[in-house]
Amino acid sequence: MITMKNPIVEMDGDEMTRVIWQKIKDELLRPYLELQTEYYDLGLPNREATGDRVTADAAEAVKRLGVGVKCATITPNADRVKEYGLTQMWKSPNGTIRAILDGTVFRAPILTPAIRPYIPTWRKPITIARHAFGDIYRATEYRVEEAGKAELVFTGADGKERSRQIIYDFPGKGVLQGQFNRDDSIRSFAHACFRYALSVGQDLWFSAKDTISKQYDGQFKRIFEELYEQEYRAAFEKAGLRYRYLLIDSAAAGIIRSEGGFIWACKNYDGDVMSDLVSAAFGSIAMMTSVLVSPDGMFEYEAAHGTVQDQYYRHLRGERTSVNPIATIYAWTGALRKRGELDGTPALGAFADRLEKACLQTVEDGVMTDDLAALQDGVSGVDTDTFLAAIRERIG
Ligand code: NAP
Ligand code: MG
Repeated sequence: MITMKNPIVEMDGDEMTRVIWQKIKDELLRPYLELQTEYYDLGLPNREATGDRVTADAAEAVKRLGVGVKCATITPNADRVKEYGLTQMWKSPNGTIRAILDGTVFRAPILTPAIRPYIPTWRKPITIARHAFGDIYRATEYRVEEAGKAELVFTGADGKERSRQIIYDFPGKGVLQGQFNRDDSIRSFAHACFRYALSVGQDLWFSAKDTISKQYDGQFKRIFEELYEQEYRAAFEKAGLRYRYLLIDSAAAGIIRSEGGFIWACKNYDGDVMSDLVSAAFGSIAMMTSVLVSPDGMFEYEAAHGTVQDQYYRHLRGERTSVNPIATIYAWTGALRKRGELDGTPALGAFADRLEKACLQTVEDGVMTDDLAALQDGVSGVDTDTFLAAIRERIG
């Protein structure tokens, strides 16, 4: 039995991922490991019962314990308010946790030779880091209904006007938008990217469009460059790593011709689009991992996919399901490995390696869930429990 020095924060979730969460613990972790967790139930019924306090409490616990692992959770919409009889449309738990930890999300695919990426040259993972603050996600918009003048005005905290520029003299109807970002947020994003690149030993790319947006995107570029020169260049060179700034269009072309094996830091919107594009091109959303890294070095691991709602209803009707648990298992192994690193207990990392290897071996042996089987010729998928049992057999 492997033991743990300190607990990790465990955040349970919803629907089909909640079902496999329990199975992963019972069948793949507890037989080998004296699992120590501080448990928070982020399932929607308990978020409702606690007025969503449980989400904030869990995030605070990650701050205290340094490492967390999270199951996928429902972000309520109008349908969910009805389905679960909610008193409020509770906010996205991931958004709440990210706001408390002030973190950056890194999304990386799990590669196995059994699944070919759509881009044949991609041999190593491409990790997307998305700056999840500001820009169009917090923009102010206006529908222009008539001819008139739009201006950009900045007034200092002392009430004095500092700048007034004409954006456009509208001859008629149109649209208008105001975006912002903050130096401290960009800086903490840049720190997270440089540190994460060093921690995984991969090059870092950052892309924006500073040729067109000289002030706005230019400021992102300058902050990255300044931090690199002042704090990271020496460590990068020592590790044989490279930091590159690229224009977003040339980065987009560059990744297609690359063999992977680097981190691509993106502005908010670029990261939103590119993370879905890159995960689809690597084969399956069920093979994407995600880790939230805070500027002060807290780590929260999860699968990038959601609660697999359609299969949950099938599960409730007693029908066959074929849910791929790999990204959720990797969330656990990521958290256990990090716990081992922080506590100086290498047995945890060794167990994480063993469990990950068992997952990949299962797929390479041709035993896979429907989502992966659909990418192969002549392979039929197995159901959720058969797949978990096949992994267990291979842990040894
Ligand atoms: P989703 O749960 O990721 O599912 C989208 C589709 O991807 C599924 O219908 C399924 O395809 C496939 N899929 C995803 N994960 C899979 C897995 N492990 N094994 C097999 N197939 C998998 O996203 P969604 O349907 O948009 O959202 C469902 C719920 O999840 C929503 O309530 C949403 O709020 C929540 N969500 C949570 C998170 C999070 O907590 N991080 C992220 C995204 C969404 P098939 O239809 O082919 O089976
Ligand atoms: Mg998206």
